[in-house]
Amino acid sequence: MRIRRCGLHFLTLATLAVGVSGCGVTRLSRSEEIQIGQQVSREIESQYRTYENPTVSRLGQRLAAVSERPDLPYRFRVINRPEINAVSLPGGPVYVFEGLLHATGDDDQMLAGVIAHEIGHIAKRHAAQQIERSQWYGIGIEVLTGGGSARDIATIAANLQLLHYSRKQEYEADTEAVRYTRAAGLNPSGLVRFFDLLLQRQKRGDTTIAWLRTHPTTEARRNRVAQLIQEQSARETTSATAVR
Ligand SMILES: [Zn+2]
Repeated sequence: MRIRRCGLHFLTLATLAVGVSGCGVTRLSRSEEIQIGQQVSREIESQYRTYENPTVSRLGQRLAAVSERPDLPYRFRVINRPEINAVSLPGGPVYVFEGLLHATGDDDQMLAGVIAHEIGHIAKRHAAQQIERSQWYGIGIEVLTGGGSARDIATIAANLQLLHYSRKQEYEADTEAVRYTRAAGLNPSGLVRFFDLLLQRQKRGDTTIAWLRTHPTTEARRNRVAQLIQEQSARETTSATAVR
């Protein structure tokens, strides 16, 4: 393995035991990224009931196929939790919470927008980058080399679930989501409707919106996506006219 092993020190924090590594930034390889995602996926599935949903899988596979990393082992499952949330793990796994399915109802375009956003985080390696830059890096390596304890894996799982993406990463995943939905022949405006739904519920003080904790959503972000969609439609109209 090309990654140097690092010394691990465990600090007991109020909520989590976090491994601190003294290493500099090293890039996780594709297979290491996949392995970490799969380990964490197993941990999540040992804690929560998850199941397949035909609409989620169909939309997920259709969107993943047009992403810039279509060859990853994507896997889409529903997690038996009431919150409005979705989680993506490095290298392919995506979990849609039951609460999100209820909130989007029969609006498949809205659901597609959220799944496309999660695929955007995976394709752009956002969680992998956070692992590379962060203090959990050492734990990731322990897990990969088979030396990780169940507690280490649980720590990574907890951290990935609590992970806060930067505004830049959110914008990037939104841009990808608009691109993927359009390329898959779906209507990207579903993502704008999802933001509207979140913003409305947020104003009402709805506490089931876990998505907001890990993917901060603001009016500016909603408007940016609406603007992107408008610009892309205008570009397509212009090029269609030019062809004629
Ligand atoms: Zn996000």
